[in-house]
Amino acid sequence: MEIRVLGCYGAQFPGYNTPGFLLNGNLLVDAGTVTSVLTQEEQINIDQILVTHAHLDHVKDIAFLADNLQLQKTYPVSIVATQGIIDIMRANLFNNVLWPDFSTIPNAKDPVIRFQPIKPGRPYSLNDVKITAIEVNHTVETVAYVIEYEGGSVIFVGDTGPTEEIWMVANKLKDLHAIFIETSFPNDMKDVAEATGHFTPETLNNELEKLKIQAPDIYLYHLKPQHYDVIVKEVGLLEKRNIQILREGEIIQI
Ligand SMILES: [Zn+2]
Ligand SMILES: [Zn+2]
Repeated sequence: MEIRVLGCYGAQFPGYNTPGFLLNGNLLVDAGTVTSVLTQEEQINIDQILVTHAHLDHVKDIAFLADNLQLQKTYPVSIVATQGIIDIMRANLFNNVLWPDFSTIPNAKDPVIRFQPIKPGRPYSLNDVKITAIEVNHTVETVAYVIEYEGGSVIFVGDTGPTEEIWMVANKLKDLHAIFIETSFPNDMKDVAEATGHFTPETLNNELEKLKIQAPDIYLYHLKPQHYDVIVKEVGLLEKRNIQILREGEIIQI
């Protein structure tokens, strides 16, 4: 599987964009960065978007993608998430006030975006992968995604503070190749991280202790650019595991 990093930071500055990952050219995990990076052709190829939660840094480019697809008459694109996450997006973003409701444009039968609710803990088949959402621990309803593909599996943990279920699931996977996980704040901002449902290098380390299987590759993202250097240094001091800091534009083959 090819994973292209469209954006991978916990804030936006020139050269630092919010999370978006393109899998095999047609499946997005989060849509914080899409239309500012992908060409028209690449945007048309997107079939589905898995949404970890409805915070703007993870969904904002669905708005611009929908607008582009409508003009190009190349749709629908499915927005896959739990019903709770979908409800937040419908009520607050695609509400015909902040942005048009593209799930009824040009008409409800043949719309630009189609919301596809899923239940946590239950596997669903999409194109050539199987996905399972697992609830994690953030300030709003948020899920991790386990994505099983031919040859292995990968987990996108989403924004979260300390959590349990995803590690129990991970420990049962036989061929887990990679985990994409956030680390937003440096260690001395532990209180802020705790209050906002995020990790520091220290709390990340505690989390990785819960992983009992042979260590898959760990890819870190959602770092706050303002604290980038300190976080990278603190992650470097963690002794164990194959931890890499993601970079924008990177393409990972797993
Ligand atoms: Zn968030
Ligand atoms: Zn976020």
